[in-house]
Amino acid sequence: MTRRKLDKGRDGGTLVIATHNPGKLREINELVAPYGFDVVSAGALGLPEPVEDGTTYIENARIKALAAATASGKPALADDSGISVDALHGAPGIFSARWAPGKDFSVAMERVEAELRWRDALAAPAAHFVSALTLAWPDGHMEDVEGTVHGTLTFPARGERGFGYDPIFVPASGTLTFGEMDPTEKNAMSHRADAFAQLSRLCLE
Ligand code: IMP
Repeated sequence: MTRRKLDKGRDGGTLVIATHNPGKLREINELVAPYGFDVVSAGALGLPEPVEDGTTYIENARIKALAAATASGKPALADDSGISVDALHGAPGIFSARWAPGKDFSVAMERVEAELRWRDALAAPAAHFVSALTLAWPDGHMEDVEGTVHGTLTFPARGERGFGYDPIFVPASGTLTFGEMDPTEKNAMSHRADAFAQLSRLCLE
């Protein structure tokens, strides 16, 4: 398969980050920074949030990246991500955002805890985060990758940093939750970092 690289000469120096999620935007900005693009978010451009009706992370990342690239006329990078809990048969998965009514993730984390308690599965339950990244060009070409990080869940939630489910996730390589970690440390081991390293090898270097 022919991979397309992002070429500042041909594509311009601007990269649109197709997200309205401030936590993701912070992390993606940090990952993209070394490549020297002028980065602008879909939110800052006033682009509408498309309906994410895909059935996989990659389908949803493609919907967001393509919508932003087409509307802005510039290359766009989108992340679709979530957390899968083994004892919950992979839930919440692609519905991770939807388990948080009004984007209140304390409710989502309580729901995960309640469902694990109901199954008597609260002892270090295995879970993993997934991040699908799609880079889309205005002509419709797309490249995508998927990254993961494995770990266990811990209750009660710990830490005020990060976003979403970070305060209940302890990566396999450590003892702190993502919510307790320095952002640079999370960005060196997260699912998003794993996906971005793959994307960078394929399309940015
Ligand atoms: P999306 O915007 O539809 O991709 O929703 C992804 C949801 O998954 C986010 O709103 C978070 O709840 C969760 N999620 C994805 N990545 C992370 C992460 O790095 N930390 C914590 N939660 C995450």
